[in-house]
Amino acid sequence: MSTESELLHKVPNGLLIAGEWGASSSGETFVVDDPSTGKAIKHIADATPDDGRRALDAATGAQDAWSATAPRVRGEILRGAFELLQERKDDLALLMTLEMGKPLADSYAEVAYGGEFLRWFSEEAVRITGRYGRNPAGTGSMVVSQRPVGPCFLITPWNFPLAMATRKIGPALAAGCTAIVKPASATPLTTMYLAALLQEAGLPAGVLSVLPTSRSGALSAAIFTDPRLRKVSFTGSTEVGRTLLRQAADGILRTSMELGGNAPFVVFEDADLDRAVEGAVLAKFRNTGQACTAANRFLVQRSVATAFAERMAERVRVMKVGRGTEKDVSIGPLIDQKAVDKADALVRDAVGRGAALLAGGRTIDGPGTFYEPTVLSAVPADAEILREEIFGPVVTVVEFETEDDAVRLANGTEYGLVSYVYTTDLARGQRMIDRLDTGMMGLNAGIVSDAAAPFGGVKHSGLGREGGTEGIHEYLSTKYTLIPS
Ligand code: NAP
Repeated sequence: MSTESELLHKVPNGLLIAGEWGASSSGETFVVDDPSTGKAIKHIADATPDDGRRALDAATGAQDAWSATAPRVRGEILRGAFELLQERKDDLALLMTLEMGKPLADSYAEVAYGGEFLRWFSEEAVRITGRYGRNPAGTGSMVVSQRPVGPCFLITPWNFPLAMATRKIGPALAAGCTAIVKPASATPLTTMYLAALLQEAGLPAGVLSVLPTSRSGALSAAIFTDPRLRKVSFTGSTEVGRTLLRQAADGILRTSMELGGNAPFVVFEDADLDRAVEGAVLAKFRNTGQACTAANRFLVQRSVATAFAERMAERVRVMKVGRGTEKDVSIGPLIDQKAVDKADALVRDAVGRGAALLAGGRTIDGPGTFYEPTVLSAVPADAEILREEIFGPVVTVVEFETEDDAVRLANGTEYGLVSYVYTTDLARGQRMIDRLDTGMMGLNAGIVSDAAAPFGGVKHSGLGREGGTEGIHEYLSTKYTLIPS
């Protein structure tokens, strides 16, 4: 296993364009730091709008040859990258912990999850099919085929630096599209390491470019307005997603949007409480609460609400907070000071409005940007924390009386990414599947993500699906041909 400095030395520090790692056109660099220490860990090239155009030159130049490459060959390259990723899993896990702060156990879980998108889409590359049939008038044949949409721009967030990249790169390349990926400025190193693995697995020059930048707005605007771009896939906040959708309108770009969440975690009085607490710990504290799928509101039926909140508080009091590389740490730093301030302000607002603080509730002095794992119960309906995506290790318990109340509260948000429901009543579980406005649901499960499943939301949580058999269709367009007989 590499030491931290050996590993950081191995990561490229340039932009990847046309198969070469090089400096940005301005020669400028920016700093990536470790949120658990606040210290700089690497300086990397800072892409400019000109670099964006160069990457599009490369993507456009490589597009025809890549889409003509045999699907089996495309699949084998992805499969090769999957194998390399398994071999280098220690490097990738440590790298994510260094640049993003997540505890090593969470990083290893992400290596497993993120790698699966390469394997899954290596298998999907050879299953792109169409259909053929006689037209209703009986005068000819109708052929329906699937074509790659063309050069894609992939924008990823910092919270899952590997998985959010493979979830887009995997299907784009499998479908025969070339791509430019712009990782989050806080966590570009994992994507750069991944791109080097894909090169090692045989990816031809120009098929994938990587453009880290400290000025995402300017870089993206240049790429969006270039008519050679055909598709944008974005994962990040609803606010930025909305801006990008407006920009995409001018070029009539295909868009996939994986946006924010405000997941309800509903516990009925007939639930297996042990199982619900286990699921709640996973749904809330994985990634230190910094997941779009993180449970944001725990809606618990009145008769079991006190017991549930107390059991969560017991679990939270023994959680070890610290640098993700340290043994037994399960809560790492938040990504930056702004995130800590936001969590703290939301907790203070809730307590000020009458919520009971059962555990935590304070920032932890630096270095690093840490917030105590926290449990709030009896959170009143007007508390800000129930409307905002917390993105931190804070549990909010809200009581409800009836199933109708639970549905009304769960659906009472502009988001609709994922919902969790705990009940042992099968009929009730089935009713909840029908009644919750959500793209995904865990029924007695605290984690739902799977490369083989369609991930995505409804309402302001986004458009499109990633993963599953659906995922590759985001990168394909349907072509119909009539052949008169
Ligand atoms: P963010 O601020 O929206 O940033 C996401 C990405 O967009 C980053 O690469 C960012 O670059 C870039 N960006 C920001 N402003 C831009 C602009 N004007 N033009 C082009 N790109 C721009 O979100 P985040 O804070 O990184 O991530 C957290 C959010 O992502 C949460 O809301 C979470 O729910 C959501 N998320 C959703 C899913 C899902 O699948 N639904 C999965 C994970 C996360 P910079 O880093 O340079 O700002």
